[in-house]
Amino acid sequence: MHADLDRVLIEAPAIAQRVAELARQVLDEWKDAPGGTPEITPVPLMTGSFIFAADLIRHMPQMMQIQLMSVSSYPGTATTSQGVHIDRRKSNVPDDLTGRHVLVIDDILDSGSTLRAVTEDLRSRNPEAIKTCVLLRKQRPEAMAFPVDHVAFDIPDEFVVGYGLDYNGYYRNLPDIGVLSEKAIEAHRL
Ligand code: 5GP
Ligand code: MG
Repeated sequence: MHADLDRVLIEAPAIAQRVAELARQVLDEWKDAPGGTPEITPVPLMTGSFIFAADLIRHMPQMMQIQLMSVSSYPGTATTSQGVHIDRRKSNVPDDLTGRHVLVIDDILDSGSTLRAVTEDLRSRNPEAIKTCVLLRKQRPEAMAFPVDHVAFDIPDEFVVGYGLDYNGYYRNLPDIGVLSEKAIEAHRL
């Protein structure tokens, strides 16, 4: 375990297994669309979902064009949301998504404000359909009540890092998902 973690919540092999299963669930659901499985347009939300998205889409063998969207809500050493910002210069989502079946991929569902802002933005681009999938969902009322199509893991309401999730830009490269220690949080704030 990394020295800055309090404890590991989900180890890498469990993540890998669940992500593969989730990809099958996502594809199964699209299968029922009129005309069979459509071409999917994954929209991973940068930066937190990049590792999850990379693993998930490699279990989806069909043709796809990936469009990134850059969103931030926890700048620097904040551990609570500071408001959602969609950075259009760092996004390559086409203005016109007519006919496209969009799959929004995010790292973690907390207050729901990120997914709300993103789906609203995408809807204005006229896609055929939008589905959402998240790696983690926090077990707090706002998150549990928020409508999302696919969730890989429900976790306790704590600040987690690893497998793409950061604190102050660090820890994204940890293969496991774990709870950051208070001591590590304080150390970055100094
Ligand atoms: P929401 O908009 O649902 O409140 O929060 C979603 C975004 O906040 C996520 O995409 C993620 O970037 C960030 N976030 C929420 N909870 C955590 C957490 O426990 N750890 C990390 N590293 N980021 C989080
Ligand atoms: Mg994020």
